[in-house]
Amino acid sequence: MIPGPIEFEPEVLRAMGANTTSHVAPNFIETFGHSIELMRKVWMAPTGQPFIVAGSGTLAMDMAACNLIEKGDNALVISSGYFGKRFQKILDCYGANTTILEVAPGEVVNLEFIEKNLKEKSYKLLTFTHVDTSTGVKVDAKAIAALAKKYNVLSILDGVCSVVGEEIRQEEWGIDIALTGSQKAVGVPPGLALLVASQKAMDVWKNRKTPVQNYYGDWANWISIMTAYEERRPSYFGTPAVNLVAALEVSLRLIDEDGILNRVQRHEKLADAFRKAMSALKLELLPNTTKNAANTLTAVYYPEGIDGAAFRKKVSEYGVIIAGGLLPELKTKYFRVGHMGAIAPQDLITTISAIEYGLKTVGYGFEDGVALKTFQACL
Ligand SMILES: *Cc1c(COP(=O)(O)O)cnc(C)c1O
Repeated sequence: MIPGPIEFEPEVLRAMGANTTSHVAPNFIETFGHSIELMRKVWMAPTGQPFIVAGSGTLAMDMAACNLIEKGDNALVISSGYFGKRFQKILDCYGANTTILEVAPGEVVNLEFIEKNLKEKSYKLLTFTHVDTSTGVKVDAKAIAALAKKYNVLSILDGVCSVVGEEIRQEEWGIDIALTGSQKAVGVPPGLALLVASQKAMDVWKNRKTPVQNYYGDWANWISIMTAYEERRPSYFGTPAVNLVAALEVSLRLIDEDGILNRVQRHEKLADAFRKAMSALKLELLPNTTKNAANTLTAVYYPEGIDGAAFRKKVSEYGVIIAGGLLPELKTKYFRVGHMGAIAPQDLITTISAIEYGLKTVGYGFEDGVALKTFQACL
C-alpha cells in the first residue's frame, strides 16, 4: 500500500512474463503503436505527441527540461514538497534561471501569488507537481494551466503521482507537458517514462537556437521512433523495454475500457472514504484542506508520542506495507498510504484494520472499529 510501485493487475503481470520478442517484430510494433494511441486517449490529448522511453518518472521530468530549456531561460517552479525541489534541480542542470515558489508542508501556493510572479517576470515555462507524493497534496491543475496560458508560458505538469488517478484534460486545459512514470496510477511495473507534449511544446523545441544538452533524452532521437511505431513501421534508436511496453498496452487498454473519468471517480471515492476513516481515528492529515487532498495517496500524522517505526512494523504483521514520511523536515512524523490503480475496497478495509491494530498495540486509544465502520458507511 505504498505510493508506488503499486499492486498490479494479474493481466498486466502476465504480459510482463511473456516471451521477449524483437523490438521490430510485427506484434511488438503493433503493441507499441497501440500504446501511443491509447496514451492520447488516457491523457485526453488528441493532438499531443506521446513519448514512451525506458527510464523512471524522473527521466520524464528530465526530458521535459532538457528539450525545452536553453541556457539562461527563466523557469518558475511551483512546489508543494519534495518533487518540486527535484524539478528545480533538473532545470538548473540545463542552465535555467529558476525561481521556486514554496509553502509550508500541507499547503499549496496560492493562485494570486503565482499570477503575481508571472506578471513581474517573463518565464519560458513553469512546472508544478500535480500531486506531491511527499505530502499527499494536490494542486489545481486546470487553474495553473490557465494562468500559464494567460501569460504565454509553457506549463509542465509533473503527474507521476496523478495521471490516471486525478482528472487531467491535457488538451482542453492547455497543459503543454503531462508526464508520469509507469509504476504509479498507470499500473505497470517501474521502468517507463511516459510523457505527452502539446504541439506548442514541440514547436518550442523545434525552434531552439542551441542543441539539447542531453543525448538519451533528446526528442530528436525519439520523435522518429514514436512516429514509426505509430505508423506500424520498424525503427531503432535505443532498444525499448519490450516487456514493459507489452504490460503498458494491457494496462492502458484496461483503463480505456473502464473509461478514464470513471477511473478517476473511483479513486476519488476511495480516497474520500479512507480520509474519513483516518479522521474518525482523530488522526490529522497533512493536506490542510480536503480540497488539496489527493485521490492517489493519503499522508497522515502519527498521534502525538507514538513511535512511527514501531507502529508501521505492527501494521506489517497484517501483511500490509505502508510508507513512512518522505519530506526531510517531517520524516518521522507521518506515514503515507497509496490507494491507486488496481486498489479495491477490500484492500483498504484490510489496511484500515491493520492501522487500527497497529495503533492499539503501540498504545493509542480510540473506539474499536471506528475507522472501519466509517469507511464502510462512506462506501
Ligand atoms: C515518484 C515521483 C517522481 C519520481 O519518479 P521516479 O519513477 O521515482 O523517478 C516524481 N514526481 C512525483 C510527483 C512522484 O510521485
